[in-house]
Amino acid sequence: MSRELWIKAGSLLATDPKASIKCPECDEADLEVCDTKAGDDHVERHMRCPKCGAYNALYKSIAE
Ligand SMILES: [Zn+2]
Repeated sequence: MSRELWIKAGSLLATDPKASIKCPECDEADLEVCDTKAGDDHVERHMRCPKCGAYNALYKSIAE
């Protein structure tokens, strides 16, 4: 698994939610991203590859 690539993708998306991030697994498609609320001050950022189906989620605090 390429956990640190997912973490890197997550932090890039934290900086620029509209960034196009290539899938860390297949490197062919851009990740689809959506956030869901997790409590009052956290979100779960779901990242999914439409090509190979790779999926990861990061739990993060809401900035600002
Ligand atoms: Zn992929």
